[in-house]
Amino acid sequence: MKENYRIWLVAIALILTGSLAPASAAASPASLASEAPLVASDASKDVLFQESTITALMQGVFNGSMTFSELGKHGDFGIGTFEGLDGEMVELDGQFYQVKADGKVYPVNGSMETPFADVTFFEPDLKISINNSANQTELQKYLEAQIPSPNIFYAIRIDGTFDYVKTRSVPAQNPPYPTLTEAVAHQSVFEFHNQSGTIVGFWSPAYANGANVPGYHFHFLNENRTAGGHVLDFTIKNASVAIDYTPQFFMNLPADKDFLQEDLTGSKEEDLQKVESNPDKAK
Ligand code: ZN
Repeated sequence: MKENYRIWLVAIALILTGSLAPASAAASPASLASEAPLVASDASKDVLFQESTITALMQGVFNGSMTFSELGKHGDFGIGTFEGLDGEMVELDGQFYQVKADGKVYPVNGSMETPFADVTFFEPDLKISINNSANQTELQKYLEAQIPSPNIFYAIRIDGTFDYVKTRSVPAQNPPYPTLTEAVAHQSVFEFHNQSGTIVGFWSPAYANGANVPGYHFHFLNENRTAGGHVLDFTIKNASVAIDYTPQFFMNLPADKDFLQEDLTGSKEEDLQKVESNPDKAK
């Protein structure tokens, strides 16, 4: 590994909830009684709720299939998009925001619909303070070393001051819809310097490929809630990171013919990496 690891971390880690829940001694075999679970689950809250699949979005299934008032029943924290791919969605503290391709943030009406979204009820299991500069790659590698396993989902919230954030949003498309790759060719890119705000997103395990975006998927909202988008790159100055262990995944599939009749066979992993990542970063 040629990665030159800088020591940029200061305070680390409070395991707050869930994971220290005692196993029922009576029900457990004696040999396992001392093994505390790495990840315990609150069945009602530790669910990543997803509308549709990333493969359907890649294929241009952009028609709304769930209202935001319905989506809000499944989580107070999340990311996604809108009917017709009309911008990037951020849900923070139970409030939905629409970051359109004009760079502005719009309120979201409960009757508006999403074709694809991921939400959960955010209850952090791990909190980390970072008081030194770190770029996206450094922070992500560090977080991977802190989570108990890459094999479950995590909701990740990063509040702080960012030296740099680069985001994008996508312009609304009209039916018949193009693929996501075609639509993203017309994306707007925004750059922010010395900006306070919040990154909202998820880690999904590699095996979720096809259903969700494997690895990290982050959206950003600035402190004044006036700008943001799908994150392409960032460098933090100082930040607090909160991670919610999410061992349950619930996927709701659209019932309309656009989804049901679309060809969702085959892997689109390479295309997905292209549309979700920074075009200026060599991969
Ligand atoms: Zn996104």
